Amino acid sequence: MRATQAIIYTKNLLENVREARKRAGENRKICVPVKADAYGHGALAVSRIVLEAGADILAVADTDEANELRNSGIAAPILLLSQIMPEELPSAVSQELVPMVSDAAFIEEAAVAAKHLNKQLTVHLKIDSGLRRLGCRADDAHLLAGKIAESRWLCLGGVATHLSVSDSLDPSDIAYTKEQLRVFCGAVENIKKAGVDPGIVHAANSGAFLFHPDAYFDMVRPGIFIYGYLPDEVAINGAELSVKPVMELQSKLAVIKKVKKGEAVSYGRTWVAAEDTFIGVIPAGYGDGLPRRLSNDHQVLIRGKTYPIAGRICMDQCMVDLGREPDAQRWDEVTIFGPDFITAAGVAKKTGTIPYEITCGINKRVPRIYLP
Ligand SMILES: *Cc1c(COP(=O)(O)O)cnc(C)c1O
Repeated sequence: MRATQAIIYTKNLLENVREARKRAGENRKICVPVKADAYGHGALAVSRIVLEAGADILAVADTDEANELRNSGIAAPILLLSQIMPEELPSAVSQELVPMVSDAAFIEEAAVAAKHLNKQLTVHLKIDSGLRRLGCRADDAHLLAGKIAESRWLCLGGVATHLSVSDSLDPSDIAYTKEQLRVFCGAVENIKKAGVDPGIVHAANSGAFLFHPDAYFDMVRPGIFIYGYLPDEVAINGAELSVKPVMELQSKLAVIKKVKKGEAVSYGRTWVAAEDTFIGVIPAGYGDGLPRRLSNDHQVLIRGKTYPIAGRICMDQCMVDLGREPDAQRWDEVTIFGPDFITAAGVAKKTGTIPYEITCGINKRVPRIYLP
């Protein structure tokens, strides 16, 4: 087995779902987004764990992701968050997946696909309240909801929107979120006034789950919260989080070698030994999803001590400076990031991105190891 592994701490994941349950209350549904292989944590394993811990619904991007779960025996409701392609509709119908719909033409296509298979399809209507991505205009929501409700082949299972800046504590962003919620609530009211049951009303991503209880409605959809991070460290500088990161990127010290003062390490000769030292080689690189921008700008943890990355991160390897008299020994375990060290959020901060991109970026070359 390869030395580099993503350790998934099941205990932290379970605690985070419990924390979400506490925050959401007993009567609200919890939908856990497991798209993009559960933000890199492994969709199937994570789905099983969170459902066992009391999550109600899963959400993925498309039917390929959903079918991977269905084919492995996941029977829970699965929301499809992206706009699916018409050719995915038969699969959505037969596997009882729940697409988000935003327009009359696609609602029509969905009804035709359901009729063709002689099986009703539940959909959720997406309303664009200001993200300007998917969703119908709020003014049209009651008409589209009516169209869904009228079709004997479709069932309106819910109504949703998505928030642009719910993770920001900037006053103008808070006002923007309030405005999005006002627009969304207005549309939901119009659906009810038109005599249509909106089903499950939902809006809250992790940002709203943390900062906007008025966005909880009937169901919350916290993703990054469940994986143990704040959505954006910069936007919410200093905010406390009661959940724990779930992923640790771990490797081993594969080689230890002596390097003399003045000798350069790795491509580009960007790191030169200031004195005689020992260099450790770790078989993890940007080919595993370790951001190359951490070159000369990260520490790893070995036997409770930190050591700086020396030189550029390569595709399959990186080097660390172990010092003149290293405590570290060959084959020692190395933590590159993890819950009790620099976290994926810490790596994200240093590389100018968000923790989502760091955990999603740890790719399929890296086996996921689930610890209790
Ligand atoms: C990914 C996603 C979420 C979860 O977002 P987080 O920021 O991870 O909480 C919620 N809703 C939709 C529509 C999404 O695409």
